Amino acid sequence: MKPGSAIVIGAGIGGLAAAIALRRTGWTVTVLERNRVAGEIGAGMSQGPNAIRALDALGVGDRARAAGTPFFGTANLREASGRYLNRAEPGTVPPLIGFHRADLHNVLLDAVPTESIRTGAAVTAIDQTPGRAFVHVGDETFEADLVVAADGVRSTARRLLWPQTPEPAFWHYTVWRGIADLDLGPAQGGMTLAKDRYFLTMPLPGGRVYWGLGTRAGTPGERADDERSEVLRRVGDWHDPIPALLDATPTERVLHHDITDLVRTPLPTYVNGRIALLGDAAHPMSPDLGQGAGQALEDAVVLAASLHDVSDATAALARYDTVRRPRTQWIAKSAHQKGAGYISGSAARQRMLVWTTRMMRPATLATMTTKALARIWDWQPPDLPAYKEL
Ligand SMILES: Cc1cc2nc3c(=O)[nH]c(=O)nc-3n(C[C@H](O)[C@H](O)[C@H](O)COP(=O)(O)OP(=O)(O)OC[C@H]3O[C@@H](n4cnc5c(N)ncnc54)[C@H](O)[C@@H]3O)c2cc1C
Repeated sequence: MKPGSAIVIGAGIGGLAAAIALRRTGWTVTVLERNRVAGEIGAGMSQGPNAIRALDALGVGDRARAAGTPFFGTANLREASGRYLNRAEPGTVPPLIGFHRADLHNVLLDAVPTESIRTGAAVTAIDQTPGRAFVHVGDETFEADLVVAADGVRSTARRLLWPQTPEPAFWHYTVWRGIADLDLGPAQGGMTLAKDRYFLTMPLPGGRVYWGLGTRAGTPGERADDERSEVLRRVGDWHDPIPALLDATPTERVLHHDITDLVRTPLPTYVNGRIALLGDAAHPMSPDLGQGAGQALEDAVVLAASLHDVSDATAALARYDTVRRPRTQWIAKSAHQKGAGYISGSAARQRMLVWTTRMMRPATLATMTTKALARIWDWQPPDLPAYKEL
């Protein structure tokens, strides 16, 4: 269709990716972000080959690669004692790329003109006629041909437009994250597994390490005065360098979030007239496949390509929904199953995991991991004609 005007709600990774994709295909874009500064939290994240291809389609792949560090975390598995269950052999598993979130966010932010982003603009209401969409920020109204709501896991747009959908559900899973100022040299990152918790480490550029502790939790929202002490209480006696990483993380840099998703009540559609949900607003998912932001990047590319190929907005959004909903809901469900296994608390499951992983040669485990993830990692972006060079 002929490019028109679009409002993107939210300047997170999903919203910025949507803004870039739409601008590249000729759309005039205004991004509305509720925070005073468009930014990211102080944590890390990994991106798989599919997400890197999406970044390439957005024209920022090289800048993104330069901002991250390849690592093989999914294949380096240990027990709390430090004993290796499997040790990755470089070159046998496609590397993921580890990022400080702010670095990846900045790569996207740099590709959107400052004047296209309105910060301090919290969207309070959305409505539409057959031909136009209207977004309200308090008393101010913005008007466009299309609205992309990328306003995150607690999406206002989802609540307003899909009022019958429950909020994302807590399933007794909580995660602490931090960034340690500790140079572990050429360590490849890895995961340490126990029966109801895991500890993840990922090297970041600049001699830093991102770590995460995922564990079973009783009630949502339980918080400690000193979150770092809480992490130490749970894994302070685990193998090196876990205690050293925690020592090298200032208490105020420890983040604590409960994991929620819509796996039990998935949305019946991501589209309502001229309004499309994207990223966590559409498909919040647990972090266990490292795919939440990756899927938001894919959404952005497919959305812009659908609008380019199809002659009217409603048909284009219907195509976006048809392509994206099955894939993202399947990935969210798979991530949920994987996370539920990590925090199950089952000693029998842990024994089986230890036994099967130790029995396997690293190359066999690498082949199995790659095969199991192929449906996610092998994604290819549709053509996104570069109408505007960034
Ligand atoms: C512990 C943990 C680890 C993770 N690890 C990974 C990983 O390794 N790899 C990966 O790909 N993903 C990972 N994820 C998932 C990833 O963080 C999310 O999927 C991703 O950030 C979603 O991006 P988004 O743009 O959709 O939403 P968000 O990043 O939440 O951005 C939403 C934006 O909308 C703004 N906003 C909200 N409401 C309004 C409003 N009313 N008006 C205007 N603006 C508004 C917010 O301020 C925010 O800037 C992880 C998640 C967790 C919890």
